[in-house]
Amino acid sequence: MPTFWTRRSPLAWALLPLSWLFCGVVKLRRLAYRRGWLKFYQSPIPLIIIGNITVGGTGKTPFVIALAKYFINQGIKPAIISRGYGGKIKKEPQLVDKYSDPKIVGDETVLMAQYLNCPIVACPIRKYAVEFIIKNHECDIILSDDGLQHYALQRNIEIVLIGEQGLGNGFCLPAGMLRESANRLKTVDFILHKNQDFILKAQHLKNLVSQDIFEIDQLAGKTVHAIAGIGNPQSFFQQLQTLGAQIIPHSFPDHYYFKKEDICFNDDLPVVMTEKDAVKCQMIATSRHWYMPVETDLPMDFLISLQRKLAMFKPFLDILVCPICKGKLHYQKQPHELICPACRLAYPIVDEIPKLLETEARRLSLEEYDQLK
Ligand SMILES: [Zn+2]
Repeated sequence: MPTFWTRRSPLAWALLPLSWLFCGVVKLRRLAYRRGWLKFYQSPIPLIIIGNITVGGTGKTPFVIALAKYFINQGIKPAIISRGYGGKIKKEPQLVDKYSDPKIVGDETVLMAQYLNCPIVACPIRKYAVEFIIKNHECDIILSDDGLQHYALQRNIEIVLIGEQGLGNGFCLPAGMLRESANRLKTVDFILHKNQDFILKAQHLKNLVSQDIFEIDQLAGKTVHAIAGIGNPQSFFQQLQTLGAQIIPHSFPDHYYFKKEDICFNDDLPVVMTEKDAVKCQMIATSRHWYMPVETDLPMDFLISLQRKLAMFKPFLDILVCPICKGKLHYQKQPHELICPACRLAYPIVDEIPKLLETEARRLSLEEYDQLK
């Protein structure tokens, strides 16, 4: 990542006219889809985009894994679509499993498949991926890994993740790291900052060959080679240094495909890499190679408001519960309310958002109550 992206240096200023052009084109495309000049595709089931407004790493893969797990735990069936970054798919959608070749479907999709038991489909044309899922799988919601700027695909909810570099110098590509104007953030549903709203936690190191575990608190004072072919290699190096390791850093481009000489060195030091890189090094690793799995917890307030935004879609309505008795709520079309028969209350739905507060609820008349039975 060029250093001038973080500051408004003379070079950044010099490139600014190109950035206006770049931003202008993205803006025009968005407008063209919104106005209907270009035809977009609407998924028949709700679709959430988990995307970036900047280039570089934002912890998106662990975030998507955590969100999919959350839905699965709620009894909702998610499916994931991805472009298959770093892979070789052209048009034909491919179902990914943990044994898929990252060279073909991309490293991130294979990593997700190692964690999740849900359909994961890689295809650069996202519409084809959605159609493939609808045709072949039973699912309630689609999570799009990236694709915020893929305006050909209509979305119900937009979640934007921001990495530790923030928005850099605030300029669009190529003078800065923004993929579209920062104003765009005003129109998205959620903005979450890595390391603030959600934290990537490492549990341990895992050996690529033996699957042995090495506790991370034992890293302190140890010298290791650190390998990272991710959006922001520095974040991985810093994470190891925070744990007290002395590192010899080796950074590679995002989605880099490793050769044996890239990860083997002429010494006895352990080699530590990210989980995403480990997916691609399985065949060339030795017992000296370790990777660091990371996990993240999603903030509760985010999950609650996400659930409210989804409440108007089947089957999300069915999982809403009364805040008082925790019993199931029933949707009533006329008037647009959610009913708790046990508490004899009706919760209003304002702007498609259920107001699940006792103070906002209406007491059902006896007549209404009788009709429920
Ligand atoms: Zn109740």
